[in-house]
Amino acid sequence: MAQKDFYEILGVNKNASDEEIKKAYRQLANKYHPDKNPGDKILEEHFKEINAAYEVLKDADKRAQYDRFGYAETGAGFGPGAGFGVDFQDLFGDVFGDFFGAGRRRARTHGGQRGADLRYDMEITFEEAAFGAEKKIKIPKATKCPKCHGSGAKPGTSATQCPACHGRGQVSYQQGFFSISRPCSTCRGEGAVIKYTCAECSGMGRTKEIKSLNVKVPPGVETDTRLRLSAEGESGIHGGPSGDLYIIISVKPHPIFQRQNDDIVCEVPIGFPQAAIGCEIDVPTIEGNVKLKVPAGTQSGKVFRLKNKGIASLHTGRRGDQNVMIKVETPARLTDRQKELLEEFAKISGEETTPLKKNFLEKVKELFG
Ligand SMILES: [Zn+2]
Ligand SMILES: [Zn+2]
Repeated sequence: MAQKDFYEILGVNKNASDEEIKKAYRQLANKYHPDKNPGDKILEEHFKEINAAYEVLKDADKRAQYDRFGYAETGAGFGPGAGFGVDFQDLFGDVFGDFFGAGRRRARTHGGQRGADLRYDMEITFEEAAFGAEKKIKIPKATKCPKCHGSGAKPGTSATQCPACHGRGQVSYQQGFFSISRPCSTCRGEGAVIKYTCAECSGMGRTKEIKSLNVKVPPGVETDTRLRLSAEGESGIHGGPSGDLYIIISVKPHPIFQRQNDDIVCEVPIGFPQAAIGCEIDVPTIEGNVKLKVPAGTQSGKVFRLKNKGIASLHTGRRGDQNVMIKVETPARLTDRQKELLEEFAKISGEETTPLKKNFLEKVKELFG
């Protein structure tokens, strides 16, 4: 099925601004809304297309993705890097149908049966997710039999055309007016039969093996990102195509960093005198410490943004920021001398030193008189 261009659907050009896209969408959605055209299935379908197009084009990341790779029709053969593609099912799942479903639809091809898809759960560190990594993995799987090269026939012989269906894989018979087809039972629909089976694999064309693989994890992945290594799943039966290997990423929690989309959030505690007087602190980032000036009078919870110190987006390559949240610590376990100084401080402090408290008390007064 040919997919219409999203820009075409909304009637805007490829360079349209977010505002233009929004405006075009509003007009079209209004015009084709099912409430205005009750019972018209064709207009309803068009309304769905408009929504699907807008879902993608309204979001900068999804739009960039769409511009670069188009839509994921079967998921085959797209995505950065040779040999594997990043799976954008989350992005396009609703619009273009299920990824694994697409795999199943391709399952039967002439010759043999397609091998099963495999899943491998991979745990990586926060840093590996940020910078990418090369990981060696071992997967037990059925692979092409080395003796018969997957044909299932004894070396030196080959499969022959099935005499029952003459290689068509289907037999048909007449029932009343109808001609009914069913898969041939002699060759199980494969069109060929093996007379002398390979001793190594008992004619299946596959043997079990533990395969080592180098997996390139691209920078920017996060928990539940799915990487697809095409044809690294189980080998097909009787020479059929191999399935795919899906690697499901899970990122270990980091002791001080948290991820929010492509931004990194980090809480940094500072003492209350430093917060009051102002200071310069060392803030850890994924690339080492950077200096941050904390101005005098900084309140707890204040967030400072370190530009481009976040994670490079898997989809666009643009780096996020690091958000540093200041936590002002109340001094604990005071010595007598420290207590004395703070009491002294409290005594000479007017309302100007506690602007939040002052503001709060004023509000209370307004409310309760
Ligand atoms: Zn074999
Ligand atoms: Zn047959």
